[in-house]
Amino acid sequence: MTKLSQSELSPWIIGLRGKCPHCARGNLFGGFLSVNSSCGVCGLDFSFADSADGPAIFIIFIVGAIVVALALWVDVMFKPSMLVHLALWIPTTIILAVLLMRPFKGIIITMQYRLSAREGKSE
Ligand SMILES: [Zn+2]
Repeated sequence: MTKLSQSELSPWIIGLRGKCPHCARGNLFGGFLSVNSSCGVCGLDFSFADSADGPAIFIIFIVGAIVVALALWVDVMFKPSMLVHLALWIPTTIILAVLLMRPFKGIIITMQYRLSAREGKSE
């Protein structure tokens, strides 16, 4: 499918909302992380959408920085036992990672569409 026109909305906003990168109205996701085969509004084929491990890399850096900073702050301020640290930071890490996965996948797929990024090929 050829690109007819692109939405004026920021790819960040469209990705965060999980909307179609072309029309910004159809839903990109059919499930929590599964991508629909095409847009229900404009018909854009989503077969190009392959974010691979891109979202995970950003989430590792962001969640890692947040959790490590919080763990250091809590340790300095309250000196809790290691069990308290484990009880705090393991669930926090899992919850933050799961909450950020869908928005980051949406942003990366939208950027992939906007920048016409695709797999490299040697010709
Ligand atoms: Zn669309």
